[in-house]
Amino acid sequence: MPQVIDLGNDSPKLKGVHMIVGDGLCSNIYVVGRERATIVDTGVGNRANPVWPQLEQLGIKPGNVERVIITHAHHDHAMGAFLILEKAKPKVYLHEADAKHISSSLGDSLVAVKEGDVIETELWPLEVIWTPGHTEGGMCLYAREQRILFSGDTVFPDGYFGRFDGDSGSLVESIRKLAKLRVDVMLAGHGVPVLGGAEENIKLALRNAALYA
Ligand SMILES: [Zn+2]
Repeated sequence: MPQVIDLGNDSPKLKGVHMIVGDGLCSNIYVVGRERATIVDTGVGNRANPVWPQLEQLGIKPGNVERVIITHAHHDHAMGAFLILEKAKPKVYLHEADAKHISSSLGDSLVAVKEGDVIETELWPLEVIWTPGHTEGGMCLYAREQRILFSGDTVFPDGYFGRFDGDSGSLVESIRKLAKLRVDVMLAGHGVPVLGGAEENIKLALRNAALYA
């Protein structure tokens, strides 16, 4: 079963944030708050990554799931949303450019967002940073005051970056946009949390990605 980590033990900035570690190719799942939880990415939604047992382990019941944010519409990040929707009634946030791929399956729960929109959570607001390139509607979520970035599949730890979805130029521009932000902590769609100095990691990813553009 996927492991649940209390990130508040690793960084005081992340008090109230939990991580369900992605098993295999499944994305990481981040849980922000517990009373009115916001879930950032939902995993692949298969038998090995069932989401609810881990949420229950955190004391989160269906009525506590207020929002789901999907950083991009790849199945390893998005399909778990349908498991969540079987029991709970959260709003599901997606960038408008990716929402079209699964909007019909999400029905009334879908909220299409765009650059600069702000999504409230129990802990702090998250700004939508549109980062096309890995997918057209890929987005990162930024807690500006806390300098926390949920980087989806745009930037990974150790200077790795997302695979291009046919458009290397826009991915590089997206990483360049992230490199201008003040970021201490980076929580990526795959891999381990970057708990300090994440700006350096983003700059390294920018240098690496620019070699391919
Ligand atoms: Zn992806």
